[in-house]
Amino acid sequence: MDHFLYRDGALYAEDVPVAEIAAAVGSPCYIYSTATLLRHFRLFDEALEGTEHLVCYAMKAASNQAILKTLAAAGAGMDVVSEGEYLRAKAAGVPGDKIVFSGVGKTDAEIRTALSGGIRQFNVESEPEMEVISRVAVELGTIAPITIRVNPDVDAKTHAKIATGKSENKFGIPISRAKEVYALAASLPGLDVVGIDCHIGSQLTELEPFKLAYQKVAELTEALRAEGHNIRRLDLGGGLGIPYTRSNEAPPLPVEYGQLIKDTLGYLNCEIEIEPGRLIAGNAGIMLSKVIYVKSGEDRDFLIIDGAMNDLIRPAMYEAHHDIIPVVEPAPGTEPHSYDIVGPVCETGDTFAKNREMTPLVAGDLIAFRSAGAYGAVMASEYNSRPLIPEVLVHGDQFAVIRKRPTFDEIINRDTIPEWL
Ligand SMILES: *Cc1c(COP(=O)(O)O)cnc(C)c1O
Repeated sequence: MDHFLYRDGALYAEDVPVAEIAAAVGSPCYIYSTATLLRHFRLFDEALEGTEHLVCYAMKAASNQAILKTLAAAGAGMDVVSEGEYLRAKAAGVPGDKIVFSGVGKTDAEIRTALSGGIRQFNVESEPEMEVISRVAVELGTIAPITIRVNPDVDAKTHAKIATGKSENKFGIPISRAKEVYALAASLPGLDVVGIDCHIGSQLTELEPFKLAYQKVAELTEALRAEGHNIRRLDLGGGLGIPYTRSNEAPPLPVEYGQLIKDTLGYLNCEIEIEPGRLIAGNAGIMLSKVIYVKSGEDRDFLIIDGAMNDLIRPAMYEAHHDIIPVVEPAPGTEPHSYDIVGPVCETGDTFAKNREMTPLVAGDLIAFRSAGAYGAVMASEYNSRPLIPEVLVHGDQFAVIRKRPTFDEIINRDTIPEWL
């Protein structure tokens, strides 16, 4: 359920006609719905009602300051994976004790920044990292709260590039070695070992892999407690998938996911953290684009649009499907036409869809990529010297540009010329 719906034949973002935003801001652009962001955050929050918990939004999915402020005001914590994300979260007003720091390659400098600014916990992914965190904490005269990310060797049944919970992945420590690694952590002077962390992948469309992983986490909690570790917090990662195709996908609901957490782990009386990213932001955003040309090829017609792979890389990178809809609702009974939908970038990979049935379109028509709110704007680049596209946030009948399109001068002047030239 989201807030991008047709009204009187025109696509709206909440109470704003999308065409009005296009007229004001230009295309392409990202448009987010406040109501959808909040709705999805609250679904998770409510799913864990009755359990001590914190929903830490995985801000790598969409990290604009306005999005972070919207979610933080509703009570969200943040899951960050870099110093930049940490500082973004702080800049949006999120207190350190609601920020968890994940990621396999935290540097000394990143750890120092987080320890100085306040942190709920580090999710530690290796023994060398653990030693660095302990050393930096001792240097700063503090104690670093940590969980250890265990890799439960579970098949998340998702795209290979976003599966993280198999033993061949770079993430976490093998659950089979957990006892040994927890013993090492307990012996280090700068650490307070508060719990266990586990994140098995993204865009999971079944509960079964979560169940297998969480059962292993439950067993491990008991085993570690028996060894004297005070395991009191379980970070269960993110990963719940969203429907990218409206018609035939029904991934599990947050309430079902919450129930699974209670069923598998509730008896341990731990504080629960979850780190959803995609499910909060994904269907809360669209990418708006405009048809530049309709080009007739030998055996197919191309819609050449002003959005490209540098603006939304998911189709090129993960073979991802996005529903693409016209901003003017097709009249009932309109015969669809098949198009390849492509951007202007000089790579064949710059293809959003092949043989996509669309209402017949002409140059100048606006289209919207649904489910583009997560891993869209944040993965954009300026490849082909195409400016990063603006982001717009809608709130009821208001909208605001939350990141403006840079000018070409700004882009060019970011480079500096060495003296000898
Ligand atoms: C990416 C990531 C998430 C969020 O995953 P979603 O699929 O967007 O929910 C959560 N935790 C960690 C450690 C991650 O790397």
